[in-house]
Amino acid sequence: AHLDRISAVDTDVHAFLHVSADEALATARDIDARRAAGEDLHPLAGVPIAVKDVVVTKGLPTTAGSKILEGWIPPYDATLVEKIKAAGLPILGKTNMDEFAMGSSTEHSAYGNTRNPWDLDRIPGGSGGGSAAAVAAFEAPLAIGTDTGGSIRQPGAVTGTVGVKPTYGGVSRYGLIAMASSLDQAGPVTRTVLDSALLHELIGGHDPRDSTSLDEPVPTLVDAARQGALGDLTGVRVGVVKELSGEGYQAGVSARFEESLELLKAAGAEVVEVSCPHFVNALAAYYLIMPAEASSNLAKFDGMRFGLRVEPTEGPVTAERVMSATRGAGFGDEVKRRVILGTYALSAGYYDAYYGSAQKVRTLIQRDFAAAFEKADVLVSPTSPTTAFKFGEKLDDPLAMYLNDVATIPANLAGVPGISLPNGLSDDGLPVGFQILAPARADERLYRVGAALE
Ligand code: GLN
Repeated sequence: AHLDRISAVDTDVHAFLHVSADEALATARDIDARRAAGEDLHPLAGVPIAVKDVVVTKGLPTTAGSKILEGWIPPYDATLVEKIKAAGLPILGKTNMDEFAMGSSTEHSAYGNTRNPWDLDRIPGGSGGGSAAAVAAFEAPLAIGTDTGGSIRQPGAVTGTVGVKPTYGGVSRYGLIAMASSLDQAGPVTRTVLDSALLHELIGGHDPRDSTSLDEPVPTLVDAARQGALGDLTGVRVGVVKELSGEGYQAGVSARFEESLELLKAAGAEVVEVSCPHFVNALAAYYLIMPAEASSNLAKFDGMRFGLRVEPTEGPVTAERVMSATRGAGFGDEVKRRVILGTYALSAGYYDAYYGSAQKVRTLIQRDFAAAFEKADVLVSPTSPTTAFKFGEKLDDPLAMYLNDVATIPANLAGVPGISLPNGLSDDGLPVGFQILAPARADERLYRVGAALE
């Protein structure tokens, strides 16, 4: 049914870069046979899933939305893909994204735009617009995204889906094509909070192949979602982050947010205001740290090891000239912009002024979170300041594009988990997202409060 739906709508939506119909059907048939034989299967066995194209999949093309990886077939599976396969979820295919996960609209994909199923003239968010659009358009019930600076939560918000960024280290990064290694986390994109809990428990857990993986058992998220669904939040302190609402937020976004605060109060939660004064500098710190790490991670795309190789049209064919020609042809403008920004921020004369200062701001943001979580069990805000914008609206203005991440980025800088929930429609008829943040390793709070609000 999902493959039929993809055939029917994906020419318009373009959520997928690659559909693995044969593999998905083979898995589905295998699960049917095992179920008929009475085997005890994972609760998600047989439920199809779409995977963002930045996650490596053995035998399936993986491009990270870039021409530089066109035609590359990974020889191994990411840990989270191994877990998905072991549990028997058919993989429907790989979803579109901004090139190397850099963007907030999926317009930076080298393979064309994904369209928002709510309005095909609008962006589906980014970088994981493909995963969110696939779930919103009923092409897939579940998807995997990655969130370095909001790329699961912001697409979730603008497509009316649920998206979760787990605690940093909660889900293995082994087999994610790294963008900014200290910020990247993979997580679920689904239609309900309970679905996200099931998928998060499946992909989470310690992995010796990722040195930043938390060596702890996966938290019990499904139980937390079931408890939350009963609707009682008595004793839960909800902190409204002063710096993440109000000015700069679309009126319809703020109105839905205020209504949800009333719903939380009606469920028995205590709503308090908290201040995180350094959050106003989060965006600036992120857009130094992220390009710095990305410029280093992307150095491996040199025309020698993976995918594209372009030789210079004239002059000697030296290694350096092949690298230059390959990177010149294979990377898009946004990737080049960030590599330049990152290498500049890391260069000898500017390291302290830019990268060093940004790291200090990062520490201050972590302290703001620590202080806020003394006063509240969870923090809340709108996920994104606006609903889905039109194609082209922010494409020529990188700063306007970056501003869309203002509410999602603090969580990545501090490593704390966050969820975006559908929060009704704005006055323009487009979906709004409600964000909940919890302390590191307290992901179950997202599910308890999220399910109560759902
Ligand atoms: N909009 C963010 C950026 O462009 C999204 C990053 C992400 O989460 N992959 O950096």
